[in-house]
Amino acid sequence: MATLKAVRGTRDLLPPETELWNRIEATARKVFARYHFGEIRTPIFEDTGLFARSVGEETDIVSKEMYTWEDRARAQSEKSQSLTLRPENTAGVVRAYIEHKLGESGLLQKLYYIGPQFRRERPQKGRYRQFWQIGAEVIGPPSAGSESPLRDAEVLEMLATLLDELHIEGWTLELNSVGSSADRARYNDVLRAALIPVAPRICADCQRRAVTNPLRVLDCKVHEDQAIIDSLPKITDSLDQESKDHFAAVTAALDAAGVAYKLNPRLVRGLDYYTRTTFEFTHGGLGAQNALLGGGRYDGLSEAIGGPKAPGIGFAMGLDRLVLTLQSTEPDQKAAAPRGVDAYIAPLGEKLNAAALVLARELRRAGLSVELGDGSFRLRKSFEAADKVARRIVILGEDELQSGILTVKDFASGVQTKVPRAKLAAMLAK
Ligand code: AMP
Repeated sequence: MATLKAVRGTRDLLPPETELWNRIEATARKVFARYHFGEIRTPIFEDTGLFARSVGEETDIVSKEMYTWEDRARAQSEKSQSLTLRPENTAGVVRAYIEHKLGESGLLQKLYYIGPQFRRERPQKGRYRQFWQIGAEVIGPPSAGSESPLRDAEVLEMLATLLDELHIEGWTLELNSVGSSADRARYNDVLRAALIPVAPRICADCQRRAVTNPLRVLDCKVHEDQAIIDSLPKITDSLDQESKDHFAAVTAALDAAGVAYKLNPRLVRGLDYYTRTTFEFTHGGLGAQNALLGGGRYDGLSEAIGGPKAPGIGFAMGLDRLVLTLQSTEPDQKAAAPRGVDAYIAPLGEKLNAAALVLARELRRAGLSVELGDGSFRLRKSFEAADKVARRIVILGEDELQSGILTVKDFASGVQTKVPRAKLAAMLAK
């Protein structure tokens, strides 16, 4: 029988690498708390319509990459429903914001999430079909200041701080404004007109996009199209005064905070809901999939899915890519924290197994990490096993049990000592 393997584009994360994942998540949670974000956990699957209406029908995500199925009704009272594994989390967060009427508090909602997302993309390094995102959203009624450019600058400053605390060096913040929806509509017209003469020379996808959603042409990754796309009119020239002022206030606050950025007028991002500020943090060490994270403002998203006016800004960072970056810049990160429990307990004989469990329980409750051997092992095998995983071995024989004096060997120094049981935890903690 053929052996079963993890599905293409998915993978198992094993220790010790998972320690690095946990460390990144813990750092993110710590930084989010300092900026007063609270955690939200939304369902892994949602009604398909949510993504069609928010991310956009014409985007690659919705048109090609979603895992969608018809969920059959199980009872008369239920209806069959088209469901989709979430390809991103902003739509779910905004849906929850609307469903729970979070805007009625009159306060800004600052929410973060950590979890898996699903897209049927072509797998390659840094691109998977199940991948993890750490993201955050700042959303609220306009009266709470949700439209203020200060929110954009604060989120970007937080991201710079988070990447610094994760020890990710050498990132670049690319920044753009795609304007209000009116600006975008105007720019789409300009772009549509500019694309007519060059249409025969661009890829088939772009020829279609040139008609249906010209902005998406700027996302095109086809190499031959790049020179043509670079020569198209820039979105920054289509912004009205209000959008320009908003963007100028964002960059002024970033300048004041000393957060460096690079303006990139082609950065329109692959999701339709963005308005005004859009951004990406890239890293050279990642190769073709060089985006560590992306995000932007989405002032009309709540209304697009039937909610109240609730401007917002958010981002999603690729956890898989953070891990890859740390592994490539700090090779010893591959092994994450050095493996090593505080002590390995070696019972001498199976009759001592229960006593060894009691000793392990005592030490673990005192906060130590302990690996428990087995009395069926010969002493030599215990030493070999202990040396692989622990800093010290504690021998528990009949004599030790009776006398309460344990034999401890430290592998680094090679020194063997006798330690009274009452002092063992303190000694092992050193
Ligand atoms: P997006 O939701 O497309 O704006 O993506 C935000 C971030 O999620 C990207 O910058 C990547 O770091 C990460 N990401 C998106 N798609 C994938 C994928 N298929 N595999 C791994 N990471 C991804």
